[in-house]
Amino acid sequence: MLWMRRIALVLAALALAGAGAAGPEGEDGLIVSVAVRDFASARLRRAGLDLLMEKGGRVYIVASPGDLAALNARRIPFTDETLRLRQASLRGLSAAGGINGAFHDALETEAELRALEAGYPELASVREIGQTLEKRKILALKISDNAASDEREPALLFVGCHHAREWISVEVPLLFGRYLLQSYATDPAVRALVDESEVWIVPIANPDGLEYSVRVYRYWRKNRRANADRTFGVDINRNYGYAWGFDDVGSSGQPASEVYRGTAAFSEPETAAIRALVLGLDLRAMISFHSFGQDILFPWGFTTQAAPTDAELRTVGRAMAGLIEGVNGRPYLFGEASSALYLTNGDTVDWTYSLAGAPSYTIELPPVDIDHGGFFNDEAAIGAIFEENRPAMLYLIRYGIDHPRSLDIRRLVRPKRSAPGPARRSQRIQR
Ligand SMILES: [Zn+2]
Repeated sequence: MLWMRRIALVLAALALAGAGAAGPEGEDGLIVSVAVRDFASARLRRAGLDLLMEKGGRVYIVASPGDLAALNARRIPFTDETLRLRQASLRGLSAAGGINGAFHDALETEAELRALEAGYPELASVREIGQTLEKRKILALKISDNAASDEREPALLFVGCHHAREWISVEVPLLFGRYLLQSYATDPAVRALVDESEVWIVPIANPDGLEYSVRVYRYWRKNRRANADRTFGVDINRNYGYAWGFDDVGSSGQPASEVYRGTAAFSEPETAAIRALVLGLDLRAMISFHSFGQDILFPWGFTTQAAPTDAELRTVGRAMAGLIEGVNGRPYLFGEASSALYLTNGDTVDWTYSLAGAPSYTIELPPVDIDHGGFFNDEAAIGAIFEENRPAMLYLIRYGIDHPRSLDIRRLVRPKRSAPGPARRSQRIQR
């Protein structure tokens, strides 16, 4: 289907280049850079822009036609960086895999999950945990001895792709599922882990968004909710129910924002599906994969106060960082999310942690920065990125099995705002 791929490539290129008229929803845009001093003096941070990064004295913005009009109106000089970054986006993908190369879209992921279930019927069970707004399945792979029956063993959750453009975050949990199943018969350590626990893998939390990123607009981040103001998308990693909407720094009430939190906690089918899954589990630990940055982030995201089990979160995070760096020598920093990256509220790991104190981590996968590809990973790098994360994932399963959770975090912590400051957006690129 070469011609289909060509058309899709052209569409993607048009979307990235912002050529011609804006797309059907008027959200296609350019990637432009603005000098940091202009950005600051024009107080652009309050404009709800999708910031890609700050590098070499310039702020990079994914700019919609409306954003460009705002820049022009404020007489802010900007440079079109679209072509340069588009070349980065299309590099490193083989023609054989279609427009997304070796990366998995929603249907390719489902095929892989079904194949694993068929190949390992005792150990693997595919569950549909929800359905998206565009009627796509949200799928989970359960891996355990007697996977088809619910034994309520210690549960571990590995979830990918809350954010559509973070394609590598699909691959790591998916490859991990395959690895556990393929190794079960020959690796006694893996076998013990699988026998003593149930491992839940949700490779794509946001299938609608991923499809949009693959077929239409590579930089798409949110889900595809049609908002009341005719913008699209809720940031489902700001839609979970702990400290949801805590302030306007860690999320936004503006539907156009890249960190729009939705109209209510768990308003989105994707987060509701994960909630229903997790509430039925004896959750012992979890990782939510994102990209990019090489960070291991733990609660809290919504406040810079330390979580009740900060020492444990730090110890386990440090152990995982050491295991990861030991594989390929690539360092991942670890720290409390709010301090190490930026404030977030309503994110996945604050919520899973809030239930019973299960160690919960956001891992920002490679690369480390935009110069090494940003949201774009060469498909040849997928294997190495998975391999370096694998020992940390195995370690976390064992840790979870050995550490039952019973903390009443919600009784221990009452989200309280610190001194009210002026509402301001983080200047960091949203990842
Ligand atoms: Zn992300």
